[in-house]
Amino acid sequence: MPDQPTRRLITVSNRLPIVLRRAPDHPGGWRAEGGAGGLVSALTPVLRARGGEWIGWAGTVEEDAVDLDQTLAVLSAEIGFTLTPVALTADQRDKFYLGFSNEVIWPLFHDLQSRANFAPSYFAAYEEVNRRFAAVIARRADPDDLVWVHDYHLINTAQELRSLGVTSSLIFFLHIPFPPPDIFLKLPWRAPIFAGMLAYDLLGFLTARDRDNFIACAQQILASELVVESWDDLLILTVDGRQVRLGVFPIGIDAASFERAAATRETTDLTRQLRMAVDGQQIILGVDRLDYTKGIEQRLEAFRHALQRHPELRHRVTLVQIAVPSRTDIPEYRNLKQRIEGLVGEINGEFTHLGWVPIQYIYRSLPFTELLAHFRAADVALITPLKDGMNLVAKEYCAAHLDQQGVLILSEFAGAAAQLGAHALTVNPYDIDGVADAISEGCRMPLIERVARMAALRESVRTHDVFWWADSVLRAGALPVPGTLATTLDEGE
Ligand code: UDP
Repeated sequence: MPDQPTRRLITVSNRLPIVLRRAPDHPGGWRAEGGAGGLVSALTPVLRARGGEWIGWAGTVEEDAVDLDQTLAVLSAEIGFTLTPVALTADQRDKFYLGFSNEVIWPLFHDLQSRANFAPSYFAAYEEVNRRFAAVIARRADPDDLVWVHDYHLINTAQELRSLGVTSSLIFFLHIPFPPPDIFLKLPWRAPIFAGMLAYDLLGFLTARDRDNFIACAQQILASELVVESWDDLLILTVDGRQVRLGVFPIGIDAASFERAAATRETTDLTRQLRMAVDGQQIILGVDRLDYTKGIEQRLEAFRHALQRHPELRHRVTLVQIAVPSRTDIPEYRNLKQRIEGLVGEINGEFTHLGWVPIQYIYRSLPFTELLAHFRAADVALITPLKDGMNLVAKEYCAAHLDQQGVLILSEFAGAAAQLGAHALTVNPYDIDGVADAISEGCRMPLIERVARMAALRESVRTHDVFWWADSVLRAGALPVPGTLATTLDEGE
């Protein structure tokens, strides 16, 4: 990791990077499991490298959360940074986490407002939990610390911290897209959510698309009070005399450790086994949390269509779809699982022939080595979210593809497309014909073109890794803001 200013870092996210489960036979009565998802994968190596503290929910409800301290102290020593829990009640978990965060903000910010459930009781719980997080942070933070709050669950934490008198620099990073005004303005709580974002010192977005959407919303919501100026790579908003910096920081992965882990003998042996199991066919791989934003249904339809439109693919390709269980307490996710499994059954029923089964479907989280082996074994990665903040799987596939022969098919609506789109086959995930044709093109791509594209993709992933990302955000968060700024942007720019 490049040299970092030595201010202590307090990282805050809804979940700690571990999940605790009751286990009477374990010391302290708790068993720790690694958390899943892009944020945990991205930030754990950063915290390991620079130390500090991570504040978040340990996945237990308050009623159960006794005797946690000893377990967390042991885990903190093992992991190399301090883990500090925030306790939630079962009701808060339901209304704040499952409710406001995942049934309101999540669908709306992914442009899927028709899936949002704007239940009035959710927002009060969201405010209450943001206040709880702020109370724990306020106890732990010194004025010189950098407090880095992550993601859409905690948008209102800065306002609560300010009202508690916390003067530390406050950074917010949004790991999901920010929607355009015609979607954001549908949010019944748009005013307090927008004001919550403006209470931070630095707002980090994944792509220019998201930052520009935020500015477009600011122009509609704040109208004439708003001044936007550019400064270095940042934009600075001045609202009511306060300055908020906006930056674009495409999150990366720990590419070097992915490459190392992909090269081990264990991964190599597993990769060989996976290849032997498909007997010379090409492997097309999908890896996603089972979430409606990931476009898994549309992808399966496109694969079905590819087998109809390009019959030469039959007996020659296998689609391996890994669906990681996610948010299974939300009915929408349980229904989606049923629909996906129904589609897999239909397609396999329609095309299975003489021992060839077109889709292998895996519904579980894979151990790391097995996941890497799937990345290495896959000739084509089919990554087609309807909208995605970044999509780290796209980057992990490239980093793990040591032989450089893989093809990346990538949705133009994934944040990763801004960085990787030039060397991937980009698709509109709603365009079933287009995705079917890209599948065929990816499977037929000449070796020389595959290698040229993958080499460029890997270089980009390696250069813009997670340490580069964290370093860029923290530098922007620690910069002194100049009094006078050079360029004033026109309204609407
Ligand atoms: N992942 C995992 N277990 C699996 C499959 C995937 O932990 O069986 C990880 C994957 O390596 C990646 C993360 O889950 O780091 C998914 O991140 P992404 O940005 O693609 O999507 P998100 O789930 O954050 O929406």
